[in-house]
Amino acid sequence: MSETNRRTFLQRSGQVACAAAIGGVAVQLGRRASEHDIWTISPNHCVNIRLGVAGASNVCEECATSCVLPLSAVRAVNNHAECGRCCICPAYFDVMSPVGPDGLPTKKLCPRDAITRTPIGVFDEYDPLNNYYEYTIDEQKCNGCGRCVMECKAPAGLGSIRLEVRSDLCLRCNRCTIATNCPEDAYRRVGPEPAPPTTLEGGHA
Ligand code: SF4
Ligand code: SF4
Ligand code: SF4
Repeated sequence: MSETNRRTFLQRSGQVACAAAIGGVAVQLGRRASEHDIWTISPNHCVNIRLGVAGASNVCEECATSCVLPLSAVRAVNNHAECGRCCICPAYFDVMSPVGPDGLPTKKLCPRDAITRTPIGVFDEYDPLNNYYEYTIDEQKCNGCGRCVMECKAPAGLGSIRLEVRSDLCLRCNRCTIATNCPEDAYRRVGPEPAPPTTLEGGHA
């Protein structure tokens, strides 16, 4: 190898090594930026959770439809301690459906049949309205569409069902598509902000 070729070879090797090192730093910064922060839903802003908005026509389903995952990282969760265990739960039944011979609505609300109920205590088979139930949401079925959340809150319900971002499922995308599409700016990042683009001395970026 001539002296000129050798110098060119060493220069190029140095550039490749430098680029690899910068790339490595960028990857580390990216990881660090998203490792500790999480996305969360502000209950005071989400239309499905906050008080003052009611009705199926106002439901926002962006949490179900905008997530990059096949089944959204957002799921509905029922806080049993706050649940009224109502016989005619407006989050379980479609209360606008025809009433059956037992006095209960004939259709369920959840489009994915993700909510089940179990009688609590002694079951009164002669008076279906005289029973209380525990309502459980199957997280394998729920896609976070928010309908049950909208119906559970006052005045019809007690607001025990919430929408939550499951941190164990969420990929923590730096640009969450739900946050981008949320009409109420309710989908928010909590934790360290992503690192700003790094500008290195010497003209490299
Ligand atoms: S996109 Fe925003 S307003 Fe819609 S359900 Fe999700 S958090 Fe609520
Ligand atoms: S959020 Fe939607 S899919 Fe999940 S339990 Fe409620 S109604 Fe069913
Ligand atoms: S950060 Fe990504 S995975 Fe998590 S909720 Fe948003 S789009 Fe879904």
